[in-house]
Amino acid sequence: MDYPGNLFVVAAPSGAGKSSLVKALLELDSRVQPSVSHTTRPPRGQEKHGREYFFVSPQEFDALVLADGFVEWAFVHGQRYGTSKKAIEERIAQGADVILEIDFQGALSIKRIFANAVLVFILPPSWEELRSRLERRGEDAPDVIELRLRNAAEEMKQAPEFDFVIINELFERALFDLKAIVHAQRLKFSAQRRARADTFKALHIL
Ligand code: 5GP
Repeated sequence: MDYPGNLFVVAAPSGAGKSSLVKALLELDSRVQPSVSHTTRPPRGQEKHGREYFFVSPQEFDALVLADGFVEWAFVHGQRYGTSKKAIEERIAQGADVILEIDFQGALSIKRIFANAVLVFILPPSWEELRSRLERRGEDAPDVIELRLRNAAEEMKQAPEFDFVIINELFERALFDLKAIVHAQRLKFSAQRRARADTFKALHIL
């Protein structure tokens, strides 16, 4: 189905800088809205219920799965994460651009359901840099970092399935690239025709 809003799905191994990039995009572009996922993992640091995630118990998560409340859900690093249907479908139907920051399995499931979703993969410039970013972040215990690095190797194998790739070496450059992807979607013929219907009509373009 062709919705008036765009659906952007950003995936990356943890530590590649995905959250910072998406956050910066959201600050710069008020037409892009985040989708808040549900997770069974506990909040970290300053995270707030309803802002970064809806933090729910495994029982609450089960209930949502049974109620068919998720477009997709997956186990990531031993915890469950899910994208609620309501969070995206209503908004892209109303013309908003929605951005999902989810893992690669989720991204591929979304593409099967929303064929027009734009899949963006963020890569780190090297293994060394990925490891040092995870260590500098100081949020995870050493064994969790090792698990995240092992998962990263598997995740990066999925990069060819994505529409776009950004290598996050310099943050400003990577942000420029992400903005360019969003902008290019808005310049597509179908999007322009919808957004500038009067101009198209005046120019006799169907
Ligand atoms: P973190 O615990 O570091 O916030 O997230 C771990 C991973 O789960 C990240 O790759 C994040 O993008 C992913 N994730 C967050 N929300 C969802 C979701 O709704 N679905 C899926 N499949 N992955 C998610």
